[in-house]
Amino acid sequence: MTDPQHSRLAIVGSGPTGYTAAIYGARAMLAPMLFQGIQPGGQLTITTDVENWPGDEMVQGPDLMTRMERHAHSVGVRIIAGHISKVDLSVRPFGLVGDDGAKYTSDSLILATGAQARWLGLPSEERFKGFGVSACATCDGFFFRDRHVIVVGGGNTATEEALFLTNFASKVTLVHRRDALRSEKILQDRLFRNKKIEPIWNCTVEEVLGTDNPLSVTGVRLRNVLDGSESNVACDGVFVAIGHTPASELIVGQLETREGGYVVTEPGTTRTSIPGVFAAGDLVDNVYRQAVTSAGMGCMAALDAEKFLSEQGNV
Ligand SMILES: Cc1cc2nc3c(=O)[nH]c(=O)nc-3n(C[C@H](O)[C@H](O)[C@H](O)COP(=O)(O)OP(=O)(O)OC[C@H]3O[C@@H](n4cnc5c(N)ncnc54)[C@H](O)[C@@H]3O)c2cc1C
Repeated sequence: MTDPQHSRLAIVGSGPTGYTAAIYGARAMLAPMLFQGIQPGGQLTITTDVENWPGDEMVQGPDLMTRMERHAHSVGVRIIAGHISKVDLSVRPFGLVGDDGAKYTSDSLILATGAQARWLGLPSEERFKGFGVSACATCDGFFFRDRHVIVVGGGNTATEEALFLTNFASKVTLVHRRDALRSEKILQDRLFRNKKIEPIWNCTVEEVLGTDNPLSVTGVRLRNVLDGSESNVACDGVFVAIGHTPASELIVGQLETREGGYVVTEPGTTRTSIPGVFAAGDLVDNVYRQAVTSAGMGCMAALDAEKFLSEQGNV
């Protein structure tokens, strides 16, 4: 049996958080190894235009992530194309097991496994993702200036996304499958006061309607959950706002998490409940969820790991 491969810093995840942590870790001479997981490049690889990455007026999501990978590679990060199926945080060095059975150990660990937006699960939604269907108003709201958009959901996320979208859209229709919102009262008050927002209650989106050439959304087919009747509503975009799921299954029962499964970190740091384990990006953040904030937290995590290792006399 071969010995596990060891490194001073292991990074799980290859989104903006993971690659930024890796670049900083390599430049701090920690010779990090980074595991890419089943979505190399993370969430930005499933989008098209990114218009808020500083320094690029417009960049394609997959191109940006290829550049980050190349940058990490150029500074000597050991990039491993594997998914980690198990971590053991009970002893140091920490243990990691790949889904091919390969074993690794590390003196410090950065968790950058991100999150996934929850989708409706419709084939038509899949077809128009990035072409009128989005799960991020902050990212894509700007593309819908003076347009009519539909927001699907009834919690805080949907209420906040609907309010935010009124900065751009001429009209926002909120479609909710119940007859009342679950969001905080203060958000509801704001929403009901906003003349641009019209709620449609007791309805689910059954299909996103659109054209092939160009690939774009023209409306949605709704079903009333009370009487089963169907109706079409014309719109230019659909924002699915039914929440996110952080990819925290690896550490459940080992690290402190909070509601929704997000990893808890000490305020102002990326330190988790176990010394030497750091978490950053969408895995900890249910508020900002942006590439640039994730990259910022990735940088913090590498600096926190470097400080931890030097205090241990391990650098
Ligand atoms: C459609 C869409 C469009 C977006 N557009 C924008 C935009 O225009 N601007 C913007 O700033 N933000 C945008 N975002 C948000 C942005 O993509 C995220 O905030 C950012 O990607 C989070 O980075 P992250 O590195 O924390 O996580 P992710 O990007 O989610 O990356 C997580 C990584 O962890 C890996 N991973 C997970 N589990 C394991 C495991 N067990 N073992 C190994 N690896 C694992 C995955 O393979 C992946 O590489 C968009 C998001 C979506 C979904």
